[in-house]
Amino acid sequence: MTEPAVPATSAATGQAPPGDVVVALDVGGTGMKCALVRPDGRVAHTERHHTRAERGPAAVVESILDVAEGLAGKARADGLTPVAVGLAVPGVVDETTGRAVWSANLGFRDVPLRELVIARLGLPAALGHDVRVGGLAEARLGAGRGTRHVLFLAIGTGIAAAHVVDGSAFGGAHGAAGELGHVVVRPDGPRCGCGRLGCLEAVASAAAVGRRYATLTGIPATAAEVVARAAGGEETAARVWRETIDALADGLAIAQALYDTEVVVLGGGLAEAGADLLDPLGVALRQRLTFQTEPRLLRAALGDEAGSLGAALLALDTLNRP
Ligand SMILES: [Zn+2]
Repeated sequence: MTEPAVPATSAATGQAPPGDVVVALDVGGTGMKCALVRPDGRVAHTERHHTRAERGPAAVVESILDVAEGLAGKARADGLTPVAVGLAVPGVVDETTGRAVWSANLGFRDVPLRELVIARLGLPAALGHDVRVGGLAEARLGAGRGTRHVLFLAIGTGIAAAHVVDGSAFGGAHGAAGELGHVVVRPDGPRCGCGRLGCLEAVASAAAVGRRYATLTGIPATAAEVVARAAGGEETAARVWRETIDALADGLAIAQALYDTEVVVLGGGLAEAGADLLDPLGVALRQRLTFQTEPRLLRAALGDEAGSLGAALLALDTLNRP
């Protein structure tokens, strides 16, 4: 269990009683990453559960409430005091109203998750978007620590971004900000899950890299395998990877024109490629910028705990709001 070192002022109230913890859940299409997090960002306990989304949204909501209740009980059994609940889910999330507006993976359609958590656990609660809270955690506790303007880009099965300024992630007017994966970078490209042709996500997500390689070679491969083969000099793999980098650079150039960030933190499965991603992407991005200042590209530091840590930060922010 890695415990991110946190400056005393970042997440903390400073005066929180030593036994206080936040119950944090990051609910994905396949699994729930859960934690008890202290106000200074240290993790007191983690556990994981299967989401089993195929049971339908109502059953998933029940599981979320059961798991959250179980975590609060675990905290009390360990002599800790649960003071709030932070919950992160994918899709369109309205943080202001605490409603999961829409989710492809979990089937949510306007679910008042925050109110349901408050009703079940009797604790203050916050609901956030999985990538936005991941960005929040990376900006405040992870790779973006010490910078004010951070763009977090999660490249996995899909692609999504979070724009974090001074430790706050912006959700947009309808909870749908940061969908950089659905910026069209190849108008004649493959069809995206959203219906359009050539979205960044359809061209350069980890899933798209594997698909493209399989189309060209007839051999199924993960993105990690394509990266390894490209590094080993295999021509088709190198071509697929080069095309991926170019598409990502096109997307990032658009993001930089819009957001003018100091750093771009790259997370998700594709970021596992490390320097094989960051180095060529930095070069390709530089070629596309004219008057804009180049952002620093950094690899995410918190791994797949970013979501639960970010959910905890969101809950703590709720408590600390004057
Ligand atoms: Zn799309």
